[in-house]
Amino acid sequence: MFESLSERLSGVFDKLTRQGALTEADVSAALREVRVALLEADVSLPVARDFIRQVQAKAAGQAVTRSVTPGQQVVKIVHDELVAMLAGDEGEIGALRIDSPPAPVLMVGLQGSGKTTTTAKLARRLKEKDCKKVLMASLDTRRPAAMEQLAVLGAQIGVDVLPIVPGETPVQIARRARQQAMLGGYDVYLLDTAGRLSIDDELMAEVAAVRDEVKPRETLLVVDGLTGQDAVHTAENFDRRIGVTGVVLTRMDGDGRGGAALSMRAVTGKPIKFVGLGEKMDALEEFHPERVAGRILGMGDIVSLVEKAQETIEQEEAERMMKRFRQGRFDMNDLKTQLEQMLRMGGVGGLMSMLPGMGKMQKQLDAAGLDDKVLRRQIAIIQSMTKAERRNPQIMQASRKKRVARGCGLEVSDVNKLLKMHRQMADMMKKMGKMGKMGKKGLLRG
Ligand code: GDP
Repeated sequence: MFESLSERLSGVFDKLTRQGALTEADVSAALREVRVALLEADVSLPVARDFIRQVQAKAAGQAVTRSVTPGQQVVKIVHDELVAMLAGDEGEIGALRIDSPPAPVLMVGLQGSGKTTTTAKLARRLKEKDCKKVLMASLDTRRPAAMEQLAVLGAQIGVDVLPIVPGETPVQIARRARQQAMLGGYDVYLLDTAGRLSIDDELMAEVAAVRDEVKPRETLLVVDGLTGQDAVHTAENFDRRIGVTGVVLTRMDGDGRGGAALSMRAVTGKPIKFVGLGEKMDALEEFHPERVAGRILGMGDIVSLVEKAQETIEQEEAERMMKRFRQGRFDMNDLKTQLEQMLRMGGVGGLMSMLPGMGKMQKQLDAAGLDDKVLRRQIAIIQSMTKAERRNPQIMQASRKKRVARGCGLEVSDVNKLLKMHRQMADMMKKMGKMGKMGKKGLLRG
């Protein structure tokens, strides 16, 4: 999987990481090569374009971390974007939702995609790895050979297969599978639906009828990874008409270019849950975006090096702030920094989250309705203060409050609220400081 892409990219990044300083032109040239490499791997054009745009924006907005080279940092950004591209927003991984037994899982896909093989591989995996009691049933009434194939595979892997009753419709078979699964105490039943050589209305109607009958917990689409962009189009089509919850890409052991895997999530919004890596029954792997990105880039050392360097710097910053707090110094500038951080992270995070007692503080802030709008307003108030006022908010008398409120278009009561909040936080910081000489470990979690 991904060998040629991987080779191309390591060529690009070897050059980049060996250079000390980087100009914008260096980065642009490297990213152009990355783009070509992606397109050659059959990643769809909009996805490749979007990918490069994201990397460019992040590279431009990031200060260079001490003790790593800019090139190494670019590798890290590319890595993170690859993971994001493969995983989508939720960062989910292959695991199936098959609680509340018996859980129906619908296997759909075109004929020849590897659907029957994958059904058996998955059954084996659920049985061996997850200790589930599994039942399989073939609904391919028009192809007795396909039904026979599933029975043979079932015997081979020691998984029960619903006996064939000639003349039944797919919906009838599905119903019988459900009854059998309930009576037999099965955890999961896999329904191998009929395939066709191409998508047609009759097939879709048949699969939709089965779906309506069993209400599957998962509908897994099996697609041939070697077909590249066609695999992505097939997925879009099936999803529109049947609704799929996940994708299994087969033949990823071949010398395909991997583009289907890379575009699938971005184009269809559906996660790849498993990949097929051969004809054998154990050749099915869970799809881990992190691992796959790592394999594509082949630069795990650099990625973890940059992660460490970034962590060290965050840690140093946290320690510097802690020192100030311990000395009872927490002025309006510090509060502003914290508020800005909260705005960025959507709540108490980063440094704040490392402080003890922050859970309680978060609750207070939540109670005060501290949403983005409030945070922005509070920052605006601090910005309207003079340097002296920020350093020493005790000097805020009525006339100063009025001036500040006018300056940011708010009420004096808003200014009072902020001052009160600052006082409370400063008190807390001081108390924490007095809690004595707690070591680094005691104060900073993790
Ligand atoms: P179906 O028509 O979709 O049910 O397809 P089958 O399950 O019968 O598979 C068609 C062929 O593809 C069989 O020879 C399988 O052994 C093969 N196959 C399935 N998955 C993989 C895979 O991940 N890698 C390889 N190399 N072959 C596979």
